[in-house]
Amino acid sequence: MSAAHPSKSLHPDTRAVALGRPDHEPGASVNEPVTFTSTYLADGPVSYARVHNPTWGALEEVVGGLEGGRALAFASGLAAISAVVAQVPHGGVVVSPHHAYSGTTALLADLAAGGAVTVRQVDITDTAEVVAALEGASLLVAESPTNPMLEVADLPALVQAAHEAGAVVMCDNTFATPIHQQPLRWGVDVVVHSVTKFLAGHSDVVLGAVVTPDTAGGAELHARLHAHRSSRGAVPGPMEAWLALRGIRTLALRMERSGRTAAELAERLSTHPAVGRVRYPGFGAVVAIEVAGGAVEAERVCAATSLWTHATSLGGVESQIERRRRHPAEVSSVPENLLRLSVGIEHAEDLWRDLSRALDTLVGGSAGA
Ligand SMILES: *Cc1c(COP(=O)(O)O)cnc(C)c1O
Repeated sequence: MSAAHPSKSLHPDTRAVALGRPDHEPGASVNEPVTFTSTYLADGPVSYARVHNPTWGALEEVVGGLEGGRALAFASGLAAISAVVAQVPHGGVVVSPHHAYSGTTALLADLAAGGAVTVRQVDITDTAEVVAALEGASLLVAESPTNPMLEVADLPALVQAAHEAGAVVMCDNTFATPIHQQPLRWGVDVVVHSVTKFLAGHSDVVLGAVVTPDTAGGAELHARLHAHRSSRGAVPGPMEAWLALRGIRTLALRMERSGRTAAELAERLSTHPAVGRVRYPGFGAVVAIEVAGGAVEAERVCAATSLWTHATSLGGVESQIERRRRHPAEVSSVPENLLRLSVGIEHAEDLWRDLSRALDTLVGGSAGA
């Protein structure tokens, strides 16, 4: 892996392309190969592939370089989150948003049911409420923007309060991506990603990552998370790591296009007669809308689109639409008629035509604005 780049001076778009490649030497491969092996010949620096794989290493160099820290790849986003939560001492307090990713909420509920942790749920946008809940806490789970309500937290203020209370701060940066937000800059202790989503970007891989800062505390946490990955075994496959590495090369371009289209669609949606509330944090590629009517009407919109992909998940090059409450695990304060839109890289006018026509079916076929 190349360590020759003065990567700290490079822009994120460049880091996404330049990092995680073999050293520039005559005849060298331009790309990191996929290393399919379960073990390594004895007496070298590495011994077994549950502990080390060079293809993971290349991906980790890029993800770490983008977030400004050191990354570890995991088998999924949830495996990465599990590894961080597992660092909480038995019975410790975890402060977590009401509207975090439903898998995170379910994981914490499961651990709480077994007595491993105590969970205090908060409105992550209400800084005073979060600060009050931090007393005696071990971990603050900060997701910002949240999935699917797109709530934005005051991360610098929360980090300061959490550290004063002696809590570690984990930030799920899946929605913002390091193109829009690098939480380690605000003193966050560990960033987690569902690499499955925007980083890999093509809906063809499930993968996760954690990133710790280049500080003494960060190095210590990195070592513990690495030991956790090796001993619990939630390791990625080398092919998955390679696909994610291939996908992440275009992250900046994809986020630029998707973000521009998402902002445009959010604007137009706010004037459509079949749309009530539009949630868009002003950056990124996810928009949530509440449509006229309830669950049935919202499902009808999903069924009436043809270009938009009706499926769970997000962050692919193809635009995705889903009513989140169709999942029993989604929290009940997420409205029944809320549709999460993950905007891809198709032409904005094609996306708008398909979506606005689907929405028109709720208002007697009248033309949308
Ligand atoms: C999808 C998602 C996860 C879980 O990631 P997987 O790769 O599916 O395990 C975690 N956080 C957020 C915000 C997500 O959207």
